[in-house]
Amino acid sequence: MQGRCTDCGYEGNLHYGNPNQRICDNCLTGSVLETRRAVPEHRPTYQEVKMALADAYKELAARIDVLEHENTILRQALKFALLSSAVPATLASRPTTRTGVAREMLQDGMTAKQIASHLGWDAKQVRQIAYRMKTSAEVVQR
Ligand SMILES: [Zn+2]
Repeated sequence: MQGRCTDCGYEGNLHYGNPNQRICDNCLTGSVLETRRAVPEHRPTYQEVKMALADAYKELAARIDVLEHENTILRQALKFALLSSAVPATLASRPTTRTGVAREMLQDGMTAKQIASHLGWDAKQVRQIAYRMKTSAEVVQR
């Protein structure tokens, strides 16, 4: 189709836009590129999700700050109590990880299923710890 571009005024080969608009190759390329760039950058859901996540993180970060502060205070209090021997030594030597707790429970003769339900684990994980305890004990015996 020949005629005048309704966007830039170029005269020559034109593409049909709509009844009131006919555009040249140059303007068509430009608008296509613009559209392709605009889609990922201005998807409304993307911006909304980003803002929602930022809000959620803000709350969590504040909570983590508070909990870390509280944890520090508790650790210091425990350290002080240990130094002044206000806490019995048996309590101080308690395992601090769930793996440690699982090992202790295994030594007490509890079943993997019982330990798993107590710690919120799979019985498979407990059996793995039991296996590791067994193999490391064998290494020590040799
Ligand atoms: Zn044009």
